[in-house]
Amino acid sequence: MQQFVLQSRTLCECVVIFLIAAGSVCAEEMIRIDSDHVSRHINTLASPEYRGRRGSDAQRAAEYVVDHFSRAGLQPVFPEQSFLQTIPGPRTAENLPTVAGWNVTGMLTPPHATRPDEYILLAAHHDHLGVKESGIYAGADDNASGVAMVLEAIPFLQQHINSLDCSVLFVSFDLEEHLLFGSRWWTAHPPVELEKIRLVIVADMLGRSLGDLPLNSVFLFGAEHTQGLKQEIRQIPWHNIRTSLLSDDYVGLRSDYGPFRDRKIPFLFASTGQSRDYHSIRDVPAKIDHQQVASITEGLCRLIIAISQKPDQPVWIDSPQTDQEEVQAVLEICNQIDHHAAEWNLSPIQRFFVSQATAEATRLSNQTDISSADQQRLTRLTQMLLLTVF
Ligand SMILES: [Zn+2]
Repeated sequence: MQQFVLQSRTLCECVVIFLIAAGSVCAEEMIRIDSDHVSRHINTLASPEYRGRRGSDAQRAAEYVVDHFSRAGLQPVFPEQSFLQTIPGPRTAENLPTVAGWNVTGMLTPPHATRPDEYILLAAHHDHLGVKESGIYAGADDNASGVAMVLEAIPFLQQHINSLDCSVLFVSFDLEEHLLFGSRWWTAHPPVELEKIRLVIVADMLGRSLGDLPLNSVFLFGAEHTQGLKQEIRQIPWHNIRTSLLSDDYVGLRSDYGPFRDRKIPFLFASTGQSRDYHSIRDVPAKIDHQQVASITEGLCRLIIAISQKPDQPVWIDSPQTDQEEVQAVLEICNQIDHHAAEWNLSPIQRFFVSQATAEATRLSNQTDISSADQQRLTRLTQMLLLTVF
């Protein structure tokens, strides 16, 4: 059939079809996120020079981000044409002001966007734990990997500027490791109207995996709070990475999405999970999967484009329902942990929670309707599982 169609065309038409096809392949190749760029950001921010990015060392990380925002041609959003937002600290004994940290924000507004005054926010935190007695806490996964994603999303979205139909705010928060103080300050003193934010994507730890398990998945938490967001995520072509949609209830308040969730702003928390080197001096650049970070970056950019094109602002759902996909995701985590139980030397209490969560997820996987009592039980057991094992 295909051959017949080709034969019925003129040679000229065939050449045009070939050129279009070849062009689209080239375009597809060209727009892939470069994992070398990702690794360069992570190697720099998690190098000894940045001393674990705390206090004045976090300020240097903020300046690194500002430098990239500025060179990429993003628009500054704070007064006096600044990318930096100062977060005040406690006053001194002499009642003088102090500075506790610096958030960074830059804006990309497509020239022909239908909704230039609506925003999608892509964020990560640049601070980490600094230097302690045991050494430098490099924080390569937590969260140089997230900052690398934000920085590499910029050229990708600039290449797709004509598909983007609202503005994008690129944000790097400070003081996440300090009770989310940076994002709390940002949401209390936002550079744009919070009501105009369509979606907030917060990334924290994209370069390793939950318990170092071979999951090849990025967990996307919180999609259940936004009407239609799960379907949008499923329609995106994710290359070399799977997505695992889970309720934010499983992890509670773990990163900078918190202050946005409190205000019922649609959000997504992207993370590949807590590795076994979480918050230790072993969270170093050599252990990062740069290709994984690049793949997630590309998927999130495609999601941003899709959300920007929606005619209406996404609608918040207060009490979402658990679905079968979520049950399957929990079941897979349980199976993977069970598989590694001997190697990890899990204690009897840890094994108990693995078996409880496995039993509950297996039971629910055979049900078409999941009641709110079922949902609560699965949530409780999954929370306990994640808390005791990791
Ligand atoms: Zn973090």
